[in-house]
Amino acid sequence: MTNKSRLIYHIEGIVQGVGFRPFVYTIALRYDLNGFVLNNSKGVLIEIEGFEESLDAFEKALFKELPPLARIDFWTKEAITHKGDTTFEIRHSDEAHTKSSPVLPDMSICDECLAELKDPHNRRYHYFFTNCTNCGPRYSIIKTVPYDRPYTSMQPFVMCDECKDEYTNPLDRRYHAQPISCSKCGPTLVLRSMQGDLLSKNEEAIIKLAELINAGHIVAMKGMGGFHLMCDATNEIVVGRLRERKHRPTKPFAVMFKDIEAIKEVCELSYKEEEGILSLLRPIVLVKRKRGLSKISSLIAPHIDRLGVFLPYTPLHIMLFEYLKNPIIATSANRAGEPIISDAQLLEQKLDGVIEYYLDYNREIVNSSDDSVLQYIGDKMLLMRSSRGIAPQSFRVDTQDKRKILAVGAHQKNAIAIYLNHQIIVSPYIGDLDNIASNELFEKMIESFARFYDFTPDLIVGDLHPNYISTQWAKKQNIPFIQVQHHYAHILSTMCEHNLKETVLGVAWDGTGYGDDGTIWGGEFLACTQESYERVCSFEPFLLLGADASIKDIKRILASLLWDEMGDSADEHLLHYFDEKSLKLLKQIYTKKMNSPRCSSVGRLFDAVAVLCGMEGNVSYDGESGLLIESLYDATISEHYVVEIDDTIIQYKSMFVQMLHDKEPRLIASKFINTLVHIIIRLSVQYSYPIVFSGGVFQNRTLVEQILQNVTQNFHFPIQLAINDGGICVGQLYKVLEK
Ligand code: ZN
Ligand code: ZN
Ligand code: FE
Repeated sequence: MTNKSRLIYHIEGIVQGVGFRPFVYTIALRYDLNGFVLNNSKGVLIEIEGFEESLDAFEKALFKELPPLARIDFWTKEAITHKGDTTFEIRHSDEAHTKSSPVLPDMSICDECLAELKDPHNRRYHYFFTNCTNCGPRYSIIKTVPYDRPYTSMQPFVMCDECKDEYTNPLDRRYHAQPISCSKCGPTLVLRSMQGDLLSKNEEAIIKLAELINAGHIVAMKGMGGFHLMCDATNEIVVGRLRERKHRPTKPFAVMFKDIEAIKEVCELSYKEEEGILSLLRPIVLVKRKRGLSKISSLIAPHIDRLGVFLPYTPLHIMLFEYLKNPIIATSANRAGEPIISDAQLLEQKLDGVIEYYLDYNREIVNSSDDSVLQYIGDKMLLMRSSRGIAPQSFRVDTQDKRKILAVGAHQKNAIAIYLNHQIIVSPYIGDLDNIASNELFEKMIESFARFYDFTPDLIVGDLHPNYISTQWAKKQNIPFIQVQHHYAHILSTMCEHNLKETVLGVAWDGTGYGDDGTIWGGEFLACTQESYERVCSFEPFLLLGADASIKDIKRILASLLWDEMGDSADEHLLHYFDEKSLKLLKQIYTKKMNSPRCSSVGRLFDAVAVLCGMEGNVSYDGESGLLIESLYDATISEHYVVEIDDTIIQYKSMFVQMLHDKEPRLIASKFINTLVHIIIRLSVQYSYPIVFSGGVFQNRTLVEQILQNVTQNFHFPIQLAINDGGICVGQLYKVLEK
């Protein structure tokens, strides 16, 4: 006979609202152990007693069999005197103390719920809001903490007896699943015309919506974090009509397919990509289209060979596909640049003239979110938009800092982050802060985080740029505010993610960021520690003629670079791109340096190269130039252009003269990418530090592929954080955290 003892476990991480207590209850019963489990301010407390070998078995199961959404970040165990309990209980949470537990993102439907949805004998057969503790909405329905039904937008729906039984039974998968409901007691679906006429309800409404899509209508459907605009992705005329109505000439649309087989018909998938598409995050994954004719409309992603694809992730989407004939465009319903619309009234206001019908339901989306977007390069996952399924995202950091800190991020692809109790919590993607709706969402996000975490910051951190909305907001708060240089923050965020303490060579390449000297940076090699950084090398600056005008009209960048290198003899080449009069005007701007900031951005060099590769007109979306260059890249071309690295400056402008001679777009694009890799290799040899890559330029698949193949030094990319400005908030926090 062995001894009996009693143990106390303190567990932190994602352990509340994920079925953790019933899980502990189940394994305690299994090993005939007594005691209790409860939620407290830090996570979960377990006191448990019984025979020692049973306690060992319990501990093994605790770590091995975790519920799908749970994650243990930190735990302690201590032995105390055996008390002689005779039962194991789930004790009530002390409500006042649950404010540091992370609010979880919305999750796609789990396999068990999916099976029920499709089982004619189950009471949730075809029930479009089926969910359980392991899946379904969370972030989108939570108003305040603790995460409990009265504090969610499920509050108006009174559970029926059957749902209540499930909700209160610790052995049921739906024990304390806050959005639990069924066709008897849950929300109602309605299909309306844009004039507001009610056309049908519930399952009928789904069937009718599918028929409308099949018949070539443009519709909207309220999904998990907001409305999707939808139409048949194979119907050229409808896709063209959508582009016209949305004033969106070329920016690619994401396509939702019924299942993975349907995706494989039109795209080539690597094992990793397939795994990512099928994962419970159900993100949009950028994948390669198969060559040749495809039933997917060529207007969905013009001029590029890639497609953003994803699978239905709510029971509602899954049921819709039961009745659809083809894959559909499913894109966030919004006005260009604004946040996703999550409310029917706004939808009617803002998308009048774009959509014809919409499917709505009467459960409020309290917090909106977009679909997450990522891509795989080899085995590496690069996150481009962190939202549904991923954010809000929390992780533990190695610091004893006791303060509460808010990071307001940058300007484009803004996201905010907070630090408290050894944890960093990152918000979902907010968007570019250059319209009122996005700015409102930015402020709302900060308010929501304050509510979720009982959070008033002791310190705010933000970008160095004086004119960013995020900076200006922070300055108004009467709270100490520290500004961190943009590209340094890019590198710091990846250092934080990988817990890098030593000096690294940060390669921060992007479109724009405010430099220490007041010029625009974006082609930076920075030697960084958590304390400070040194700009060890950067691309030779050029003038951004007419400032923002150059960002849209990218021919101006080419002109600026060629004039720098060739003087007046550039004119004859530039006349291919400008009429005489506009060229003359532009040259005046150049010579007088009128409203033309100095800029070292690599992102802008992609624009100039894209012009030489035949891109016409204005850039209509961020990243368009990079995608064109990717599609032209030819791996059999191994040459690169000659550049000089003169101490701290990369002199590359002669490259553009050489490009004029090369003429052939395939050659220009390939040699350009090879040149960038060549520059990285040269500097990596010169500074033998580990390398950290960050910045929007590294969303370029071809560039990253070439880096993976050719850079031999130890290097790091962000994994869980967006590689573009979405990850900057974390870098800002990392700068000020106590070491
Ligand atoms: Zn489920
Ligand atoms: Zn019910
Ligand atoms: Fe940036």
